[in-house]
Amino acid sequence: EAKQAQRRVAVYQTGHDETHLRRIGLISDLRRARERDELRVFYQPKVDLRSGRVAHAEALLRWQHPALGTISPDEFIPLAEHCGLIHEITAFVLAAGLQQASAWREDGLEIGLAVNLSPMDLLDARLPDRVAGLLQAHRFPAQELILEITESTVMRDVQSALITMRALRALGVRLSIDDFGTGHSSLAQLRSLPVDEIKIDKSFVMRLDTNPEDTVIVRSAIEIGHNMGLVVIAEGVEQSGSLEILQRLHCDMVQGYFFSKPVPAEDFRRWHDDFQAN
Ligand code: C2E
Ligand code: CA
Ligand code: CA
Ligand code: CA
Repeated sequence: EAKQAQRRVAVYQTGHDETHLRRIGLISDLRRARERDELRVFYQPKVDLRSGRVAHAEALLRWQHPALGTISPDEFIPLAEHCGLIHEITAFVLAAGLQQASAWREDGLEIGLAVNLSPMDLLDARLPDRVAGLLQAHRFPAQELILEITESTVMRDVQSALITMRALRALGVRLSIDDFGTGHSSLAQLRSLPVDEIKIDKSFVMRLDTNPEDTVIVRSAIEIGHNMGLVVIAEGVEQSGSLEILQRLHCDMVQGYFFSKPVPAEDFRRWHDDFQAN
């Protein structure tokens, strides 16, 4: 029995070491990923239910690792935050996304851009200036850029985050609370945030068509958002049944695999023109 316990410890340690080694390897590769052209921005539509049109394309980052294949942002974004690469990565996504969205607009596709910010970006006092510079460089209308911030992010250091958020909003840029419902903020705190949109987390939306309890939660979230004068979007719409419920609950916008997965820019354009034709 003692031997078995020992073996279990050994297995655990091996597993632990492997995870640790993978992280160390990924961090060192991530430093070179951009110059090696391994980072790609994919786009997923945010659809306005009232007009039936695509309001924004959300930029979602992908890392094409030469040996390990595609690595999820859920794995490498935390590593980038940990090793101080996140500001560079955010700047890259903003620049690439604004360039793409400007090209689309010049090409007759009147679309906005959504970009995810990381907790640390909100503590970066230079971010608003950088965003202003990029908007100017691409002649991109500020109100067509929306920055998505997770609820937990904002709450960690509310005062510093608020300063950055106000500066961004002073540029005309819009702000969204991502993963709404998963954070620990009080409604009072939320009310004081300078935001324009809340995005209901996909964990409440994905099984909406079969889970009556989720409908209760989503209905409350929509009411809260509307009472605060915010646009409400639901992410994780996978089934037509969920879409119908969201329409009935007067949700403003929707996003999810039901419409499109995040795809490369060329595929996004093709999907969009198809979608709008129907
Ligand atoms: P997020 O911002 O909450 O993005 C939503 C995630 O859900 C995306 O995963 C998207 O592909 C996925 N998704 C969209 N629709 C559906 C659906 O109908 N069903 C299901 N099951 N999933 C859906 P992804 O692209 O793997 O990104 C994961 C997270 O990584 C993002 O969550 C975001 O927090 C972070 N992330 C991605 N790109 C960036 C970036 O450029 N900067 C920062 N800071 N974070 C990023
Ligand atoms: Ca997002
Ligand atoms: Ca989300
Ligand atoms: Ca998320």
